[in-house]
Amino acid sequence: MLLRMDRDRPAELPAGLPGWLNRVSRRRFLALSGGGAALAAFVAACSGDSRPTDPTTDLEATPASQPPTPTPEPVFAAGVESFSLMAGTQWETPGVAIHTGLPGSRVMVFGGVHGNEPGGWLAAEEIARCRPRNGSLIVMPRLNRLSTQAMVRTIDGFGDLNRSYPGNPDSPLPMQRMAAEVVKVAQRYRPRWLFDLHESWMFYNERGANGGTAFIGQTLSSGGAAATIPLLQQTVQSVNSRISQREQFTLRTNIGGQPSGAPAAGSTPRPTATPSSTALPGSVTPQLAGGTTSLGFGRWVEGCTPVLIEMGQYGQDEGRRAELHTMLVRTAMERLEML
Ligand SMILES: [Zn+2]
Repeated sequence: MLLRMDRDRPAELPAGLPGWLNRVSRRRFLALSGGGAALAAFVAACSGDSRPTDPTTDLEATPASQPPTPTPEPVFAAGVESFSLMAGTQWETPGVAIHTGLPGSRVMVFGGVHGNEPGGWLAAEEIARCRPRNGSLIVMPRLNRLSTQAMVRTIDGFGDLNRSYPGNPDSPLPMQRMAAEVVKVAQRYRPRWLFDLHESWMFYNERGANGGTAFIGQTLSSGGAAATIPLLQQTVQSVNSRISQREQFTLRTNIGGQPSGAPAAGSTPRPTATPSSTALPGSVTPQLAGGTTSLGFGRWVEGCTPVLIEMGQYGQDEGRRAELHTMLVRTAMERLEML
């Protein structure tokens, strides 16, 4: 594929790309594409398509037992790219992608999915100032921006973003349309890890015998494959060793998330979910109102492990909640050797 390099004319972008991408400048697009192979992977990721297939050839060339070839890991050209979701509308909200130009992990962070959970968006804004030493960091700190300004979970008529994935660009509900844009951004950058920063009211460890949907503070929930669990366990252990008894985090695995498949070679068996994690409290229930939570992202973004962090608001001030969110994400990035 050739990109026109005329100085004053935009590059010819491949057909079928999302509208927002056509607004990306030529220079930015070229920087993003990096080269032919990266561009091909990038276009495939954007279009949700893969290379053309000839069924006969495929049958002859590939033994039935062989797993499909994974798409190569993208490496994005070094630089800081700013972008907007739902550009030109009242729901417009910014995002930033910080690329080192080096191979490494890719971490994506969501804040402000719910407007009355300020610990999450304050932390996301802080995390956006990190400068990783390899891979890429992508942050969208206030996804439901107008609701963060109104300090409500979501404004009437907007819909609940965390019940809307993968979204619908034609929906009358703006958060359904936002969900579709968020998924496109994720398909563009292919994060290995997605941290979605939320807040609950009460603490999971203080739920008592009856529990209840409000008691989910101080938890990390993940539906990722077994191979992804050790990093989350190490992250929680490391953070827990530095914080008070009441602030301790609980890791809840096997929640929502990715379709089942054969475990990766060398991976440990998936741990059995604890009884308490099978009854899913409200904010991480995967199937509601025509969409899923962010724990479903592994279905639309190849290789993505979503992690939903809930911070307890009761008796824990906003500044500390933001600090703990930041500490968790930074510690995971340290474990990934990005910081
Ligand atoms: Zn929330």
